[in-house]
Amino acid sequence: MEGKSFTNFTEFKEFIKKHEEEQHVLFVTSGSKKLINGHPAKESIQYEWLKLVCKQGRATKPTSSKGIRPNQRSWKHDCGAVIRAVIRHSDVTGYQFVITKAILSHENHPTDHLTALVYPENRRIKPDETVDLMVGTKIPQSELRQITRRNRTNVFLERMWKTTGEN
Ligand SMILES: [Zn+2]
Repeated sequence: MEGKSFTNFTEFKEFIKKHEEEQHVLFVTSGSKKLINGHPAKESIQYEWLKLVCKQGRATKPTSSKGIRPNQRSWKHDCGAVIRAVIRHSDVTGYQFVITKAILSHENHPTDHLTALVYPENRRIKPDETVDLMVGTKIPQSELRQITRRNRTNVFLERMWKTTGEN
């Protein structure tokens, strides 16, 4: 993954999303710097640099709320997985967003698909994002939109079928 380059941020984001889907992991932003207004790549690449860390490796205080989903507390693990990308420019390529660091080995937590499914982020996934995730599957996009409009339960089920490959 290191050295991989993208011409815009959307392309980068889709690449990361695909990686997360395939590996059953989830990355969250731990730091970033946006390009200044007026920068030639402000619209396309948006960021000067961006650092993503494994959701389960992020240092967070254990939740103090009691009784609600008690196993959430155990989701805090030390994992060193990290992806860093920076903007680069050359006369040949123009502006590019380049992955300069990618540690993709996960430690101290499972990366099976069931674990990925119970991440809070995936539970509250927006219908439109779910459609995006399923691009490339055999289900027609018009049908997907219909399905995801119905309700959030269906959204979750659709996602689960896709992840388990049983649709
Ligand atoms: Zn991890």
